[in-house]
Amino acid sequence: MPALTPNATVGIIGGGQLGRMSAMAAARLGYRCHVLTPEPDSPAAQVSAACTLGDYEDPTALRRFAEAADVITFEFENVSAAGLELLASLRPVHPAPAVLRISQDRVLEKSFLADAGVPTAPWRAVEALPDLHAAVDALGLPAVLKTTRLGYDGKGQAVLRAREDIEPAWAALDPKPLILEGFVNYACEISVIVARGADGAGTVFDAMENRHRDGILDLTLAPARVAPGTATEAQRVAWRVADTLDLVGLLAVEMFVDLSGRVLVNEIAPRPHNSGHWTIDACPASQFELHVRAVAGLPLPPGRRHADAVMKNLVGPEEAALWPQVVATPGLIPHLYGKAEARPGRKMGHATRLFPLNGLPDDDGIRRALGCLAAP
Ligand code: AMP
Repeated sequence: MPALTPNATVGIIGGGQLGRMSAMAAARLGYRCHVLTPEPDSPAAQVSAACTLGDYEDPTALRRFAEAADVITFEFENVSAAGLELLASLRPVHPAPAVLRISQDRVLEKSFLADAGVPTAPWRAVEALPDLHAAVDALGLPAVLKTTRLGYDGKGQAVLRAREDIEPAWAALDPKPLILEGFVNYACEISVIVARGADGAGTVFDAMENRHRDGILDLTLAPARVAPGTATEAQRVAWRVADTLDLVGLLAVEMFVDLSGRVLVNEIAPRPHNSGHWTIDACPASQFELHVRAVAGLPLPPGRRHADAVMKNLVGPEEAALWPQVVATPGLIPHLYGKAEARPGRKMGHATRLFPLNGLPDDDGIRRALGCLAAP
């Protein structure tokens, strides 16, 4: 693939903060971005050269968007197969639509991971209520019932603890079909981000540790506080997933570390990931720069960090209201996404705190370093 020349246009599907930070990295590399989103004044469009306002399923909008771009990528995964095919018939799309289709559907994703020899929690596809009873018989309780599509930030799932939970959970979760996963008693949740180019070469960032609150990412610690062997295994697994997918672009792999230190993949996302935001401040080339480089066909520098880091999300009106303190706190590196309205659960921005390389403090030290952003 010849590298995209300076001033060429990268088309980004989706107008959120991941698109915004990708567009900022693209601008630094001399590219223009053109965003496709149905949302007026979106975070990504605010920092891009152009925007097509339109629905992800509207063939006229998709066509107009594609014709304005030299290469197409995405920060938003839920574009239909028909929409992706239309885009791919007009311009190169990276990562490939086939990769997106796998990541959009938890059953396809888990089947792919099994075929790639990558460990996950045990699981069963659930299309009807009798399947769910059979799946509970096979996997036991507790277990986690999830929609196969359109879940995010812990939405579209329910933990089944007793047989009485089965029918209410089946009734509550939509859209069907569903998937049942064995409950993983995990020691921690980690993720690894990989960038890979069309020539099959690439780079893997360090494993990072993710802490959630109310199903939403709250804190990321980089690097993850896990045994060196576990971190290396997580990186090996993430690269294997990217390589097996023949990925061109960026891929985040979310994993559980179980109580024996084993790494189990939870889900994959072929795009920049919230857990990689710290790379903007702690790495010479961030996840966003590597995303743009991979889809533009530029060389991929190593995803190496020059500092340890903690990233704190600013979620909802309460944390957005802390902004004056965040910008006034020395050492907190502020990032705001340009969203007009701070609804509950909405990611409004984040702040990164850097530490010396291999010098991440303990939880108390992190709390002190986060100052006004530390949880009570
Ligand atoms: P997901 O939408 O799959 O990322 O799941 C959201 C959160 O639910 C994860 O970050 C975990 O904290 C929890 N979770 C998901 N699947 C499982 C599982 N199989 N076992 C235990 N916890 C899970």
